[in-house]
Amino acid sequence: MPDCIFCKIVAGQIPAKLVYQDEQVLAFHDISPGAPVHVLIVPRRHIESLAALTEEDAAVMGHLLAAAEPVAQLAGVAASGYRVVFNVGRDAGIAVYHLHAHLLGGRKLSWPPG
Ligand code: AMP
Ligand code: ZN
Repeated sequence: MPDCIFCKIVAGQIPAKLVYQDEQVLAFHDISPGAPVHVLIVPRRHIESLAALTEEDAAVMGHLLAAAEPVAQLAGVAASGYRVVFNVGRDAGIAVYHLHAHLLGGRKLSWPPG
């Protein structure tokens, strides 16, 4: 996807503060953190949104979710706790159309979220 900012991060064309990477996913610090720890986990392959998932994406999505705990360990919040969120659509404030999980922690997180 030529104009996708997260594809550019995956390709190394835009810098990011990497936390974790493997053959299928990349995790990097959010540029505008909403909590002391705010990491984005993205598939290397461009998938537009949670709303665009197909059966073909099942393996990479399972892998992405399984990466959350090692990412949380690397970010130092595995013991204290963290939240993993996917935004979909306008009411959730979606801004980037390359699927990403937000991993948030480092403070008490309110529930329900705002
Ligand atoms: P969403 O609202 O779920 O689409 O979230 C997109 C997130 O991407 C926001 O939290 C932004 O702060 C973050 N973001 C946008 N551009 C960058 C970037 N170049 N590096 C890191 N995070 C970014
Ligand atoms: Zn992309």
